[in-house]
Amino acid sequence: MSFEPHDEQPAVGPLEAQRPTDPAERRRALFPEATDEQWGDWRWQLRHAVRDAKGLAAKVPLTDDERAGLDETAKLFRVGVSPYYLSLIDPAHPLCPVRMQSIPVKAEARVRPGELEDPLGEDPHRPVEAIVHKYPDRVLLLATDTCSVYCRHCTRRRITRGGEAELTRTQLDLGLDYIRAHPEVRDVLISGGDPLLLSDERLEQILTPLRAIPHVEMIRIGTRMPVTLPMRITEALARLLRRYAPLFVVTHFNHPKEVTAEAKRACELLVDHGVPVENQSVLMRRINSDARIIKELNHACLRMRVRPYYLHQMDVAEGCEHLRTPIAKGLEILEDLRGWTTGMAVPHLAVDLPGGGGKVTIQPQYVLEHQATQTLFRNYRGQTYAYPEPEEQDCGCPYDAVWVNRAQG
Ligand code: SF4
Repeated sequence: MSFEPHDEQPAVGPLEAQRPTDPAERRRALFPEATDEQWGDWRWQLRHAVRDAKGLAAKVPLTDDERAGLDETAKLFRVGVSPYYLSLIDPAHPLCPVRMQSIPVKAEARVRPGELEDPLGEDPHRPVEAIVHKYPDRVLLLATDTCSVYCRHCTRRRITRGGEAELTRTQLDLGLDYIRAHPEVRDVLISGGDPLLLSDERLEQILTPLRAIPHVEMIRIGTRMPVTLPMRITEALARLLRRYAPLFVVTHFNHPKEVTAEAKRACELLVDHGVPVENQSVLMRRINSDARIIKELNHACLRMRVRPYYLHQMDVAEGCEHLRTPIAKGLEILEDLRGWTTGMAVPHLAVDLPGGGGKVTIQPQYVLEHQATQTLFRNYRGQTYAYPEPEEQDCGCPYDAVWVNRAQG
């Protein structure tokens, strides 16, 4: 086996000695005492999550770079890995994509100029503790600061580093009051942290009053549970979420290695219960920065009826420079997808502009030239085609006034 070492990463010891890498075997090696029932119980998983350097060192043969990363980031960011996600880590390879998302390296402790504590500029748009209201018709409801796995690329690390905790009753009430008072809010994204770490009862306490607000048309839940702790997706939870339709689960698979039988069961359970699942990936250097990987991931998502939605350019969050890719890499990946595979497998490539500018999507340039009577394109194979422009240029919709008048009664 060969691999390209991480920038500052020394090679690990004899790789074969550190086998096995099969997740089922790894589970038995790492948690031999766990019964199937315990392994499938999300609360058992949480109780046995590894949360510090000592715990990780006992389960994974750490490199010097990882040991230094754990030491130097200890006061900056949380560490935590569920037993399930831990069992996906390749113990023989420091560039395993699951490992790189879970275990910090030395580079993470270095905050570069330009990196931001609040890369999306959310805090100036927090009218109350629980709400971020940055876009015209939607808000973010921050439900908790905890996660089952603390991702090394987290964009909300100012929240997931701790200190905000689960919403108090008062904070939730103030958040709901804010939404009630803003009829323009038709979409609420519940996020955090990972809101599906809350108990079913606690989730209902948030969802019931939210659904009772007449102008809230749709609810989204941002969660990595299908990826990092798929046991959390129980029949009871799927039924609960379905009661608040239209409710969408937005999850976060980054690599096909994460699409396991357990993850598939979790996603399909949600979809079977009428809860649509979308995926948002983050493009990360050496983890998934290759069109082949993104294509395989998106095909795997579609096979379990999860729609690839966004491919995010990595935000300029603190300590993440070593994982960021040039903008050109994302464009190159899209170029390798569009036309070459199913359109549904081609996500929007989004850049969330640092400082609060909001999301913009970018794509390779297919328009060669606008002319008076036609527009010239290149297709995905690089061939030139002309699209003839119509003679009539007026695109007004006269019936729309009638439609709007009727809708307004
Ligand atoms: S699950 Fe989401 S909020 Fe939690 S650490 Fe990962 S990216 Fe951040």
